[in-house]
Amino acid sequence: RLQQRIHGTTLEINLNALTHNFNFYKRQVKPETKMMVMVKAFAYGGGAAEIANHLQTMGADYLAVAFSDEGVSLRKQGIRLPIMVLNPVEESFDLLREFDLEPVVFSPDFFGKLGRYAQNHQIQLPIHLDLDTGMHRLGFEKLQLEELKVLIHSFPELGIASLYTHLVGADEEEHEEFSLGQLRLFMEMKEELEEILDYRPLVHALNSAGIIRYPEFQMDMVRLGIGLYGVEVTGKRDAELKSVSTLKTTISQVKILPPGATVGYSRKGKLPHGGKIATLAIGYADGYDRRFSQGKGYVLINGKKASVIGNVCMDMTMVDISDIDAKAGDEAIIYGEQISLKELGDQIGTIPYELLTNISTRVKRVYY
Ligand code: PLP
Repeated sequence: RLQQRIHGTTLEINLNALTHNFNFYKRQVKPETKMMVMVKAFAYGGGAAEIANHLQTMGADYLAVAFSDEGVSLRKQGIRLPIMVLNPVEESFDLLREFDLEPVVFSPDFFGKLGRYAQNHQIQLPIHLDLDTGMHRLGFEKLQLEELKVLIHSFPELGIASLYTHLVGADEEEHEEFSLGQLRLFMEMKEELEEILDYRPLVHALNSAGIIRYPEFQMDMVRLGIGLYGVEVTGKRDAELKSVSTLKTTISQVKILPPGATVGYSRKGKLPHGGKIATLAIGYADGYDRRFSQGKGYVLINGKKASVIGNVCMDMTMVDISDIDAKAGDEAIIYGEQISLKELGDQIGTIPYELLTNISTRVKRVYY
């Protein structure tokens, strides 16, 4: 409450809802299937260390981040779970080793560099191999498997902890055939690699949507992301998820304006008949997207919808409250249980992932 009075905006994270969602996904897979959770991008905006810590106590098996420094930060905050790094670079080899982070290797060149590093330092390093089955972002393609096998033989210092692929459209029905094709190709590629290994790496392919749609391909592990944070992506069983984050702000001032008044920069907000507006303590610098300007966005004030009027400013946003009884100090809900991220994202042509990860660090996260 005090924090909300000071900064005006808070992101409330409901850890019980997070637990509910984690257990929901756990029930979708076999008891022995491991759960890797994506805590990259500040745990989808929710706060990496706090959420990782919670996951550690809930029994997650693995964490994943995008960049090495995200992993270092988690280690410095006491996270002990194994951490996979999706997009490591050569300059971070020392950090990976010092902080016990497990890099993804996605190209022959990177494999060679990391292998030589491990040889020079006479160390063993666990790695994860990204197999490209259609995403065409990072990863080894089928045609590169022979080259990859030679590298695996040349550098026994790199132990393969896992083999994985990523689905491009698990959330969309229309891509089902493509997804199944990816999964079949992945099975072929992993079998070919397994033939030359005298140990068995973990294999995994499914993200949140994949867990719901293709549970028969759960293999050894699944990689849970958006669903943990309470966003349903398939419109199927994941409708049972609970909303985790609520973004709230405060009314700084209420104004009654005469007919013909305009609101905000460039006079974009128009009140031909006059009206009542509230100025909210949130702007695009907090991650409230400027595309919500001029009626695209709305907030909930005392249970009623108030539309954005004019352009979103850096630290403030004006909303039309002509029909709402509200005063300075009252709360406005930007999103949460009553306003879904999907609904808001649709308004401005984006996805819940972007809305969540855009909330800036100056917005205080409050856990309950
Ligand atoms: N696996 C990989 C490689 C990813 O990049 C991501 C997220 O972008 C995920 C899993 C989790 O996806 P989702 O958040 O859709 O569950």
